Amino acid sequence: LKTKVKDPYPDWKAGEPVPYAALCTTFSLVELTTKRLIIMEHCSLFLRQVLRLTPDDLLPTVLLMINKLAPDYAGIELGIGESLIMKAIGETTGRSLNVIKQDQKEIGDLGLVAVKSRSTQPTMFKPKPLTIRSVHKGLMAIATMTGNGAQGRKVGEIKKLLSAADSKSTGRVDITKDKGGPSEAKFLVRFLEGKLRLGLAERTVLVSLAQAMIAHEADQKGPVPSTDDIAKAEQILKTVYSELPSYDVIIPAMVNHGIMNLRDHCKLRPGVPLKPMLAKPTKAITEVLDRFENQTFTCEYKYDGERAQIHYVAKDADDELSQGMSTATATAEVGRGVAAIFSRNSEDLSKKYPDILAKLQTWVKPETKSFVVDCESVGWDVVEKKVLPFQQLMTRKKKDVKIEDVKVKVCVFAFDLLYLNGEAVVEKPLRERRELLHQSFVPVEGEFAFATSMDGQELDEIQTFLDESVKASCEGLMVKMLDGTESGYEPSKRSRNWLKIKKDYLSGIGDSLDLVVLGAYYGKGKRTSVYGAFLLACYNPGSDTYETVCNIGTGFSEAVLEELHKELSQIVIDRPKPFYAHSSGGQHQPDVWFEPRFVWEVKTADLTLSPRYKAGMKEGVDPSGDKGISLRFPRFIKVRDDKKPDEATSSRQVAEMYRKQESVSKSKGPAVDDDF
Ligand code: ATP
Repeated sequence: LKTKVKDPYPDWKAGEPVPYAALCTTFSLVELTTKRLIIMEHCSLFLRQVLRLTPDDLLPTVLLMINKLAPDYAGIELGIGESLIMKAIGETTGRSLNVIKQDQKEIGDLGLVAVKSRSTQPTMFKPKPLTIRSVHKGLMAIATMTGNGAQGRKVGEIKKLLSAADSKSTGRVDITKDKGGPSEAKFLVRFLEGKLRLGLAERTVLVSLAQAMIAHEADQKGPVPSTDDIAKAEQILKTVYSELPSYDVIIPAMVNHGIMNLRDHCKLRPGVPLKPMLAKPTKAITEVLDRFENQTFTCEYKYDGERAQIHYVAKDADDELSQGMSTATATAEVGRGVAAIFSRNSEDLSKKYPDILAKLQTWVKPETKSFVVDCESVGWDVVEKKVLPFQQLMTRKKKDVKIEDVKVKVCVFAFDLLYLNGEAVVEKPLRERRELLHQSFVPVEGEFAFATSMDGQELDEIQTFLDESVKASCEGLMVKMLDGTESGYEPSKRSRNWLKIKKDYLSGIGDSLDLVVLGAYYGKGKRTSVYGAFLLACYNPGSDTYETVCNIGTGFSEAVLEELHKELSQIVIDRPKPFYAHSSGGQHQPDVWFEPRFVWEVKTADLTLSPRYKAGMKEGVDPSGDKGISLRFPRFIKVRDDKKPDEATSSRQVAEMYRKQESVSKSKGPAVDDDF
C-alpha cells in the first residue's frame, strides 16, 4: 500500500482506454512467481492504476483477469476449440496449419505457439494497439456469434485480434528464456482456450480488487488504511460477491459508493443466482452428534436430484425488483410474474425445466411477491407417487425441452428460503427461514413439496429417520444447525453447519469424490474397441493444477464404456497439459490424454499414499514429501454434468478425507470457503 504508483505506460493517459499490453505485463509478472502474496501485490497495484487513470475500464479488466466475459448465469461462452485457434494463428501469421500443429506438439501451449509464430513474421503494417476495451468487445463478439458460418466468422474475429496483438513489441522473443514475455498474442490465445495458466485463482483477483480499492480511496482522501481496514474491505467484497456474484453490479457500485459502503448497495436480489451453501461429509451419526453437541439441529431427507435455485418476482412487486429481474438473462413469464431457475453452478436451467416454470404459479401464494428458494429438482414417478432414482432424471434433455416431450416428470423439493418479499433472509436462523418458507408456498402433489424434516435430537431417532429416507429413495440425510447466528445461510461455503450423511458411506470414507478425467488406457479382451481404464485427478485451486489420484476401471457397464469412448475420443490431446500433475515414470503414463472437461463421481474403499499419484502432495500428508494420496478400489458412480472441472473435489478436501480416516475429526475450524 505504501508503494508509490508510477505511470509505467507512456501511452496510457488518464481517461484513456487501458492498453492491453499493461494487463499482459501484469500477467507476465504473475507468471514468474507461485507466491500468492506476490501475485496479489502485482494484481492490486495494476488494478489501483486502473482505478486512478481509467476507472471506467475496471469491469472489463477484472473480467479479463479471471478469464470470463460476463457472469456465469449470462451463459456467454466462446465456443471455440483448439483447431479453430490454430487455424486463426496460421492464417494471421502465414504459417501452415501443419507447422502450427507440429509446434503445438512440441511446445504444448498454444499461447507460446502464437508467440513463436508472430516472432518469425515480418510486420507489414502496424494496426492500432489493443486495449482492454477492444479485446473484451472482440471476445464478446466471438462469443455471441451464432447461425450459419459462425465458425468462420469467429476465426475472422480472432485473426483481427491476433494481428493487432503485440503491434508495439519489437524483435524476436525467446520463449525458452522468459516464458514468452508479456506477449499479448500469448495471453489472448490462452484466454480463448479458457485457461490463462497463471495460477491466478478468482479469489486472488477478488482480494486484490479489495486491496486496490482501499488503497485508491486512501490515495484520494488519505489516511493510509490500517491492517484492520484492509481485512474488513476484503471481507466485505467477499461477502458481497458470494451473495451477488456479478461484477457488472458490484464494480460500478464500489467505485461510486466506496468499498466500505458496498453492502448497502449490493444485496442479494432475484435475477442474480448466488453461490449455493454446501455441506461437509460425515460417516457416522455419532460424528454428527459430536459436532452439534448442545446445539439444536434438524435432519432433512437428502434428495438425489439436481439443485435448483428458483427466483421469482411478481409483476406487481416493487418496480425496481421487477426491472432487475427482467434484465436477468434467464427469465420466463409465469402468469403473475417472471421466474428463473439456476443450477448449482449458476447456469440457466429455465430451458431444461419449462415444466417447473409452467406449474410455478400453482404453488406460489398470491401474497408471495418475490423470492429466491433453494430446492432439489427430483425425478417423480407419477403412478407410484414417489421419487425416482437420479439416473432417471439424467435421461432428461438438457436444453430446449418442450413440455409435451417431457417423459421424466420432476417434483421440486424446497429446503431453504433466501429472499422473500423484497428482503434477503439469509442471515435469519434456519428455524425462521423454514417457517417463512412454509408460510409462502402451498405443496402440490408431484409438483412442489417441502423437504421432509425431523427435529429429534436422539441417536435412535436419527437412525430411524435415515432408514426412512433410504426407503423413500433418498441418498441419506442433511443435518443442519437450526438456531442462532451459525444457522444462517452461508453462500458459497462448504460449511460445518450443514452435514451430510449418505447411506452408502456410513462405513467408508464418508463421501464420494468428484474427479476430472485426464487420460485413458485402451481396453483389453472384450474391451479393445473402447477405453478400459481411466486416469482421474482432483483439482488444486491454489496452483490451478489437476493432481492425479487414481486409475479406475470398475463400475462401468459395457454401454457406459461405449458412450464414454464416444465423448472422450473427441477431446484427445497430443500430450498432457502443463497444468496436469502426474508422476513422470514411463510405465505410469496413460495411452491417451484428454482436455480437462468431464467430472465423474467416484466411490472408494479408502485412501492411501502412493508415489504414483500427486493428489494433496502440497498439503503435507506425506512427511517424506514424495507421495501423493490415492484411492484404493475406486468405483465409478456417475457422470457429474452439473460440475465443471474446477469444481471437482479439491486437493485439500482429499487430504482432509485422508486425515479423517485416521481419527474422526472433531476440529472446530471455520467453514471452508469452497469457491472463495
Ligand atoms: P453431492 O455429490 O453430495 O451432491 P455436492 O458437492 O454436489 O455433493 P453437497 O454439499 O455435498 O453437494 O451436498 C448438498 C447437495 O445435496 C446440494 O447441492 C443439493 O443438491 C442436495 N440436497 C438434497 N437434499 C437437500 C437438502 N434437504 N438440503 C440441502 N441440500 C440438499
